[in-house]
Amino acid sequence: MKLSFKESKFFQPDMMFQSIYEIKPDFLRAQGVKAVLFDIDNTIAPYEVITPTVEMKAYFKSLEEAGFRMAFVSNNRKERVHIFNLDLGYFYIHSARKPFSSGMRACIKHFGLPKEQIVCVGDQIFTDCLAAHGAGLVFYMVAPVNKKESKFFRIKRLFERPFIQAFKDRVKKRHKK
Ligand SMILES: [Mg+2]
Repeated sequence: MKLSFKESKFFQPDMMFQSIYEIKPDFLRAQGVKAVLFDIDNTIAPYEVITPTVEMKAYFKSLEEAGFRMAFVSNNRKERVHIFNLDLGYFYIHSARKPFSSGMRACIKHFGLPKEQIVCVGDQIFTDCLAAHGAGLVFYMVAPVNKKESKFFRIKRLFERPFIQAFKDRVKKRHKK
């Protein structure tokens, strides 16, 4: 069976969430996850938020306490990622050039875990999703935290729509079975 571009699971998130806070330790554990690779901008924080808020810190603490290991894989420059990560002290890859998967692969190597035990969390299909799937990792998509995006981003979101719809159709079909 030949799959159309839109139907290709490569371009579809494996799961979707309204925010990172919906991705809870119990859920991750049930999935067999040991490490989580996070995008930063618009996944955790808007661009202009340079250090984690109390809420963000509490979330990461809950993951740490549950025994998960975290890393950041960001396309943003070193200064942004470094400052955001100062208090958290996680492994990180800046200037990751997602959709290329080298940043994800560096994290896999760093953690030394099987791919099945690592998930990626991000807000974009054409960077985060492709980079995750390119490295053979599961991808959880969250709604972007900043609803007021630039024109460039709004256009990108428009192109993401068919893949998100295909994902939703797939989930619906799964539930019907
Ligand atoms: Mg992002």
